Amino acid sequence: MKLNVALVAHDQKKQDLAEWAKYNKESLIQHHLIATGTTGSTLETVLDVPIERLHSGPLGGDQEIGAKIVNDLIDVLIFFWDPMDAHPHEPDVRALLRLAVLYNIPTASNRKTADMLISSSLFGEHIKREAHTVVTASNA
Ligand code: PGA
Repeated sequence: MKLNVALVAHDQKKQDLAEWAKYNKESLIQHHLIATGTTGSTLETVLDVPIERLHSGPLGGDQEIGAKIVNDLIDVLIFFWDPMDAHPHEPDVRALLRLAVLYNIPTASNRKTADMLISSSLFGEHIKREAHTVVTASNA
């Protein structure tokens, strides 16, 4: 099954993500790839496939991915965030990670976790949302 895979990397982690993506190219390109602006252009160069590019993270790209999660348009999130640097869009980063947990999105923040995710037999399956993760008008 073709999944919607979102990819984001902070600047100091872009090389890491690019290497991971190159190594896993054959698996990754089976899926629909979505990325924030600069991450997307890096990955297009590395993978040589078109990528749905959103705005750059600091310009709202993280929020765009969050909105896609809310609308069930993201199945997996690969987000290599930088634990050693502060970012102007920190609230957006927190919001994205919060939505990923809320909506039960498999999320990898480092290469080993990303390796485990992509090599899982579940990687090709759309993970159904569990009832408690669906926000309704009564509990919103
Ligand atoms: P970028 O955004 O891919 O445009 O660099 C990522 C981020 O900083 O959140």
